[in-house]
Amino acid sequence: MKPTREQFLPFGLPLLGEEEINEVVATLASGWLSTGPKTLQFEKEFAAYVGVKEAVGLTSCTAALHLALLAHGIGAGDEVLLPSFTFAATANMVVNVGAKPIFVDIAEEDFCIDPDLLERSITANTKAIIVVHYAGLPARMEAINALAKKHHLVVIEDAAHAAGSEYKGKKIGGLGNTASFSFYATKNMSTGEGGMLTTDDPDVADFVRKNRLHGISKDAWKRYEKEGSWRYDVEYAGWKYNMFDLQAAIGVHQLRKLDAFLEKRNDYAIQYDNAFEGVKGLILPPKKMDAFHSYHLYPIRVQSMPRDHFIEKMAERNIGTSVHFIPLHLQSFYQKTFGYREGDLPATERIFNEIVSIPLYPKMTEEDVAYIIESVHQILK
Ligand SMILES: *Cc1c(COP(=O)(O)O)cnc(C)c1O
Repeated sequence: MKPTREQFLPFGLPLLGEEEINEVVATLASGWLSTGPKTLQFEKEFAAYVGVKEAVGLTSCTAALHLALLAHGIGAGDEVLLPSFTFAATANMVVNVGAKPIFVDIAEEDFCIDPDLLERSITANTKAIIVVHYAGLPARMEAINALAKKHHLVVIEDAAHAAGSEYKGKKIGGLGNTASFSFYATKNMSTGEGGMLTTDDPDVADFVRKNRLHGISKDAWKRYEKEGSWRYDVEYAGWKYNMFDLQAAIGVHQLRKLDAFLEKRNDYAIQYDNAFEGVKGLILPPKKMDAFHSYHLYPIRVQSMPRDHFIEKMAERNIGTSVHFIPLHLQSFYQKTFGYREGDLPATERIFNEIVSIPLYPKMTEEDVAYIIESVHQILK
């Protein structure tokens, strides 16, 4: 048995290089710090990468979810179907536009919202489905889109884990009506904090562009350029969610590296799969033949000991882990406000009780991967 490593191995870390540093310095030197040419460049390149008409840079995925719901006119009296097995942002934004979150259970095959359970939750008030591509493994979009079409529902992708993921040969980000990406520090690509909304709908993009900057008329930031004008019109009571050029300076380089990052994530995931295959009491993360998995997360299910005990043992060996996610229907706000209770979503609760995400990111070395494999074997033997 290898000795415990001296240095703590964090659960997640971004991978930044000289390119990002130089671009940030150049952007600082340019004097243009807020939303401007770099943001525009990053948006164009991101849209091209995903294969959509429009990409709008925002301060976070949370902001992208918020403006997506508003752009589709979702508000008071409306119901939105979504998984409980997600980060707080997904449901919080539904609540913050005045709509009601209706949690639907997940499927064992992908930990994403289960299309077979969706229809029974649809009422006359249902307006939208938010799909979370959990861990970067795409949900069953064909079935979900078919249901949405049948019932005239909007499909919003929470693609926080899925930058670079593909479903049936198409990049995630253009499969629903809009998609929301996160560039938070530990996501597949990072700008520190940041987000992007993608869509093929020019009206949605126009609404989001205006509402990220106080609801003032298009390209309001151009008023500081020579050909700009000091005049503007406030069309909406909007927000202040605009991505700024220092973020975009990091983003343009992270995007160029994204495919290499995902290759590394897949390479490490295969090493884990091979090493853990057949380990008793451990269930490997799901995968699909018709999808490219970003492996934002590598969530294993531990059945031979309490999950929390496994986490403690990993911590003793200086390995950080995390749990994605504490189901939202078990959180006090959602229980108090909407009456959700333990027992409401059996698959979500069963999986939550066993699940733990072990480190998987391109900054990790082969030695880190080997150490984690050895540690998991030791702990579960
Ligand atoms: C990280 C995350 C978000 C929020 O992203 P931010 O950019 O931090 O707002 C939303 N949904 C899911 C599933 C996430 O993991």
